[in-house]
Amino acid sequence: MVSTTLKTTKSEEIFAAAQKIMPGGVSSPVRAFKSVGGQPIVFDRVKGAYIWDVDGNQYIDYVGTWGPAICGHAHPDVIGALHDALEKGTSFGAPCYLENVLAEMVIDAVPSIEMVRFVNSGTEACMAVLRLMRAFTGREKVIKFEGCYHGHADMFLVKAGSGVATLGLPDSPGVPKSATSSTLTAPYNDLEAVKALFAENPNEIAGVILEPVVGNAGFILPDAGFLEGLREITKENGALLVFDEVMTGFRIAYGGAQAKFGITPDLTTLGKVIGGGLPVGAYGGRQDIMAMVAPAGPVYQAGTLSGNPLAMTAGIKTLELLQKAGTYEQLERVTKKLAEGLLCAAKETGHATCGGSLSAMFGMFLTEGPVHNYEDAKKSDTAKFGKFHRGMLERGIYLAPSQFEAGFTSLAHTDEDIDRTIAAARDVFSSL
Ligand SMILES: *Cc1c(COP(=O)(O)O)cnc(C)c1O
Repeated sequence: MVSTTLKTTKSEEIFAAAQKIMPGGVSSPVRAFKSVGGQPIVFDRVKGAYIWDVDGNQYIDYVGTWGPAICGHAHPDVIGALHDALEKGTSFGAPCYLENVLAEMVIDAVPSIEMVRFVNSGTEACMAVLRLMRAFTGREKVIKFEGCYHGHADMFLVKAGSGVATLGLPDSPGVPKSATSSTLTAPYNDLEAVKALFAENPNEIAGVILEPVVGNAGFILPDAGFLEGLREITKENGALLVFDEVMTGFRIAYGGAQAKFGITPDLTTLGKVIGGGLPVGAYGGRQDIMAMVAPAGPVYQAGTLSGNPLAMTAGIKTLELLQKAGTYEQLERVTKKLAEGLLCAAKETGHATCGGSLSAMFGMFLTEGPVHNYEDAKKSDTAKFGKFHRGMLERGIYLAPSQFEAGFTSLAHTDEDIDRTIAAARDVFSSL
């Protein structure tokens, strides 16, 4: 392999200055390298499967700006469409035809969505969907799963995944007890725990929200029957089932995890891919529930920049690219090859590991496994992961700086990129 001495002088300078003017030097905690050691690298530009840092180093990227870059970074069709849209202005604060276009694409694609509301982030979508769940059912309690992440709103910062898991933070200070007293938690893949919560709280639970495939506690698949079971239990108890597909939407399949597994929730949240790299989130679902959202109904939710023409344009172009024949087959094939190669490299060099992939999402835990929930995931050797992460970075491979994040591939990742990545992993693992 190439040189293992990575020069990141400019990154270090910029990050040192950033730390004095922004908390932790970053605009979002998962970008810091706290759990893997070392300092984050500062990007200069992205294209296809690659990123370049401010020191001119090139990396193969498996973060894909945390999910949106499924067609590859800065796809020429997306950039071209954005150039055209830019000429017409960046925000109208009034209806825009592009909202209809993206709404129709989302409704056609996602089985549960009959009506949709656009917002600016996944966090916003999840906050709004919880308000709607409560308003529709007239109940306050909600069940979430340990290690699942639904954005940073107060009500969801209970045993949350993503940066909360990465940094090993207790549930955040500043969140009032009253905000989380109605948030019940269960281990992922544990139907009995969910049944017990419903039995203990009769007619009080508005619904269940989950990542149908977990990406924020590392990559964890639902066990056979888990999603089906949740669908039955919620129905029996007059509660709503909500799939948070901010990560899995248009990634696991064009219609999301719900299309892949054939389970239709009542409501769905989206983000990441539908914004094509611009800030977009959305929530949608059954027409009778969505009709409660203002101004059609009384449940208030609003946004100055929501549905803005630039974000809609990037989303529309990205979905158009994903509609082409064979895209998900290609994503599935490339990602499977990568996941299998990484697991094989670890095992053959004597490291306990488990993991896998589904469509364009993958993950690898440094523990024997199997991993069915966050408790299992926490058995991973995070110190070893930190060294692995550093070794990969030095070999030009950019992985999420946390054991508790899924990895993402794109249509731009070639077989050669995958081969290089696996070779680098073998090299690093044999040195650990
Ligand atoms: C990323 C993510 C969110 C939060 O979305 P933001 O756009 O970062 O606010 C919510 N839920 C899931 C499942 C996510 O992966």
